[in-house]
Amino acid sequence: MRWIQEFSKGSRDQRELLGGKGAGVAEMTRVLGADRVPGGFTITTEACVAYMEAGRELPEGLAEEVDQALAALERQTGKTLGDPADPLLVSVRSGARVSMPGMLDTVLNLGLTDESVVGLAGSTGSERFAWDSYRRFVQMFGNVVQGIPGSSFEQALQEAKDSKGVSADTELGAEELRELTATFRHLFEEATGGAFPHEPREQLRQAITAVFDSWDGERAVAYRRINGIPDDWGTAVNVQQMVFGNQGDNSGSGVAFSRDERTGESTPSGDFLPNAQGEDVVAGTRDPEDLAALADHIPEAHAQLLGDLARLEAHYKDMQDVEFTIEEGRLFLLQTRAAKRPAQAAVRFALDSVREGLLTREEALMTIDPEALEALLHPVFDPAHDFEVLTTGVAAAPGAAKGAIVLSASEAVRRAAEGEDVILVRPFTEADDIAGFHAARGILTAKGGKASHAALVARGMGRPCVAGASQVKVDAEAGVVRIGEKELAVGDLIAIEGTTGKVTADDVPLIEPEVGEHFSEVLGWADELRRLGVRANADTAEDAAKARSLGAEGIGLCRTEHMFFGEDRGELVRGMFVAAARWRRAEVHAAADGGPAPPELESARGEFHEALEQLGELQRSDFTTILHEMRGLPVTVRLLDPPLHEFLPLEHFEAEVRRLESAADDRLTDAREAAEIVRDLQEANPMLGTRGVRLAFLYPQIYEMQVRAVIAAAAEATEAGDTPHVEIMIPLVAYETELRQLREHVVNVAEEARQKAASPVPYSVGTMIELPRACLIAGHIARHADFFSFGTNDLTQTTIGLSRDDVEGSFMPSYLAGRIIDRSPFEVIDGPGVGELVRIGAERGREANPELKLGICGEHGGDPTSIRFFDSIGLDYVSCSPYRTQVARVAAAQAAIAAPDRG
Ligand code: PEP
Ligand code: MG
Repeated sequence: MRWIQEFSKGSRDQRELLGGKGAGVAEMTRVLGADRVPGGFTITTEACVAYMEAGRELPEGLAEEVDQALAALERQTGKTLGDPADPLLVSVRSGARVSMPGMLDTVLNLGLTDESVVGLAGSTGSERFAWDSYRRFVQMFGNVVQGIPGSSFEQALQEAKDSKGVSADTELGAEELRELTATFRHLFEEATGGAFPHEPREQLRQAITAVFDSWDGERAVAYRRINGIPDDWGTAVNVQQMVFGNQGDNSGSGVAFSRDERTGESTPSGDFLPNAQGEDVVAGTRDPEDLAALADHIPEAHAQLLGDLARLEAHYKDMQDVEFTIEEGRLFLLQTRAAKRPAQAAVRFALDSVREGLLTREEALMTIDPEALEALLHPVFDPAHDFEVLTTGVAAAPGAAKGAIVLSASEAVRRAAEGEDVILVRPFTEADDIAGFHAARGILTAKGGKASHAALVARGMGRPCVAGASQVKVDAEAGVVRIGEKELAVGDLIAIEGTTGKVTADDVPLIEPEVGEHFSEVLGWADELRRLGVRANADTAEDAAKARSLGAEGIGLCRTEHMFFGEDRGELVRGMFVAAARWRRAEVHAAADGGPAPPELESARGEFHEALEQLGELQRSDFTTILHEMRGLPVTVRLLDPPLHEFLPLEHFEAEVRRLESAADDRLTDAREAAEIVRDLQEANPMLGTRGVRLAFLYPQIYEMQVRAVIAAAAEATEAGDTPHVEIMIPLVAYETELRQLREHVVNVAEEARQKAASPVPYSVGTMIELPRACLIAGHIARHADFFSFGTNDLTQTTIGLSRDDVEGSFMPSYLAGRIIDRSPFEVIDGPGVGELVRIGAERGREANPELKLGICGEHGGDPTSIRFFDSIGLDYVSCSPYRTQVARVAAAQAAIAAPDRG
């Protein structure tokens, strides 16, 4: 046949010709045999294309082929279309090459007429069911084929219920449904000016035409535009026998999983409803029985089903989820697909399938969705519990948390110390909040996005965070939080889910994850198979310990500015920057006056050095603990990279002035001066401002202090018997000269510090590559670097010109909704743009310096799709937030398995 293919003749490779659904049913028929899948045939996408090209004329020969295929189906099923005794009924469904959910049309129960409805009543033993099927058919046919608005049928249905005084469709009896069918047919005739087709073959012809036409319907065309699906693909039409599970106790319907869908254990699981249609299982109007109960009802079908599940699993090399119907003792499978499963079940299946010899390790690893694995580390809201969503913000750090509302970091620290669970709610976050992050169970902010530093810190600590929830209004003075109409006070309960961005005031139960012992074995396979190293971004000994316990092979990014966050240090850091700025100002004045240095110059310099010394001491002890945790593994210490708005928020200084004014405090003059200095330092674009290496040229003493601290800590670690591997990293380099000069300076200071130390310590010096210019001139920069670490957060920000702090709260949602992009480029690497720059940077860097080590430490280092890209361009390692380490290990293995021949 030219335009038609029977299910038993096709396979899954024929997606283009048969569409996704047609190819899937054909494959299942091939695997299980034609007896097990309701029979039918697919009218090919080519027939649809020919129909369109001919100006909506069915192609020549199609009608005859439909007759032949139908005759074959009647022979196969032993039933006849329109038979008044036991009719064959069919479904007519669209099926494009790619799924276009809800865009194309479907007609069910085709073949029902005034005569055959009697046959259906007889065979199912239910007049009610037969008339309900018939009235649904008239409704669907009228709506899909003739375009009669569904609302007119719905209204008639409502009137029927009202006149009987019932509220549910299921309460209408056979007699009412018979009357309703007549009303529906009347509606049909009124709307079309013609009779409802009585001849099943005519019904079929019209339904096929309608499915073809739906390809050019307004909805489908709009969907194709948005999703880039070519207009000339066309849709296939699948005509399939309908089977009925409501034909008595020897019948039924259900869903089944080839293994337990919750745990992945080898016992198949699922639900079964005796004497019911598939819709009844989904609708939840009756309580289904456990799949095991099928063994008591219809033992033969149960045994067949278990056998089929095993065959399908072996064939598809993955856990399956099937829909089945048993019609008078005979089992039919309607659909099979890879089973959705929680992470625990995914891991269990992978392990067991290898032990059973079903899959190789490689195949087993490929069945795991790495993205889901992080769930093994965080609690979630109990899915069985309903709750009122007050607002939804940016899903900034995964996991669920609940606790009492607190509005300041200090309050979070205080109440947490008393054993209370708290959620820190802030309009936006500033450097000092980090201590509060640590103390809180979760964080909720009104501003900020996924790539803002607050979100990075929360993710790094494993704290759930919802950011950018713009409906959240924090009134710190009144001690209340308003979310829409709702007003909550400090101490009231709030719950957040950082995986979805949901916020609620309901006391939703949390479910703690269970990490089985199976996971480490599966991770072990991943480690053997992957090429990419996996490190973590960690700034504290605690995070480092967590990262190591999750399998990180080093720290790829220690953001030293994060060590300056925290209550005890914030004041010191602010003091340091203000003193440094005062000193510079005094220097400029002195140079202009040409006179001797004024006393304020000396005092500012003194304060600056005093603050540096204290910070140096704190940093040294921080480095010591981190190096100890990571003993034997590399630790990349990035020198200070603070966007100044995060360290010197003007609001903070102005609030201090107001506080001292009202108290008539004599420190007011200093506070005013500090506020003025900070006002002068404000930049319109702080993320493009005095950050990173630029700061080092203004205040070289800061990097000197940090280099001394890290070398001293490494020497201390060596003396204690550890083997520290320190990599000193310089951020935000754009020019070769920046790195050349700074490397020289860093090496000088490090050498001096090394000489002071009792033990010589090895170290290397490298740079972040996080600006487009740095990627392009990577060949030059590489001459002065032992390693590159691509900072894809800033590289995304500067390549696409997006503000990482604001984008989710501004236009990004509309870009996602409008499908201009599929995912935020801060989540998944923008391959053709940002990714291309990384590739160029890696290539040029390696060409100039073959020894160059290449890593990536932006948030993309924990994203599976991005990891595949980094593997493909030959990077040495990815570095991600500690809680993503296991995700990255599995994703890196999958990248290697999928492309074994890289480089
Ligand atoms: C980056 O920009 O990708 C990076 C890792 O640095 P940060 O996020 O600290 O700016
Ligand atoms: Mg950066």
